[in-house]
Amino acid sequence: MLAEPGCPHCNQTLDKRPKRKKKCPHCGEYIFVRSAQELFPATLLTEQDARVVDHFHTLQGAGTFGVDRDDFFQEGEKLTQRFGKQPASGDVLWSLYNRLAHDSMSSGAAPSPFLYFLMAHYLYEDGRDFFHLLEQSRKMELTAYKRDGIFDKVYVITTRDASCEACQKLDGKVFTVDEALEHMPIPCKDCTFDFAGTGQPGWCRCLYGAVVD
Ligand SMILES: [Zn+2]
Ligand SMILES: [Zn+2]
Repeated sequence: MLAEPGCPHCNQTLDKRPKRKKKCPHCGEYIFVRSAQELFPATLLTEQDARVVDHFHTLQGAGTFGVDRDDFFQEGEKLTQRFGKQPASGDVLWSLYNRLAHDSMSSGAAPSPFLYFLMAHYLYEDGRDFFHLLEQSRKMELTAYKRDGIFDKVYVITTRDASCEACQKLDGKVFTVDEALEHMPIPCKDCTFDFAGTGQPGWCRCLYGAVVD
């Protein structure tokens, strides 16, 4: 039997287990529902915990990082020892992200653009400065193109009508890999797209495609 559902903010018992995001009738905070997850004992979560679950799933789903819940718990344990108190889940995730980035650097393997993309995304959702990591992610892609030497030109793929005006102007533009590395046309610095509706613009979704001659 499931335990009495409790609000993750005020711990007050809820009459009905919410099925999706809902405001707590006691404290007015939002409750998020994440049933299929193994990071937290409860399924009713704070926004931060829910976001951590979503990111962790993406990280696991990517398959290339080889992380499981024990990695998450070990990271939490390390932070607990370092700071003498239980860390926020977001700090554990961030620490895990940084460890993966560090590990890939020191192993000499090519760093994963996707990892940096996820890190940028996390900062963006958190309302923090993300642009340098999004830029880093694109730069790694270009560096890989340059290293592999298979393509020497790229073009910009936008989401067409769904992209902001500044991004639409870049649609289909062709750059040599060297030019792109020098000027870094994407992520678009003038992007106005507000992905999460948080009032923070600049989540440029433009991508590079390889030009096949
Ligand atoms: Zn509450
Ligand atoms: Zn844009």
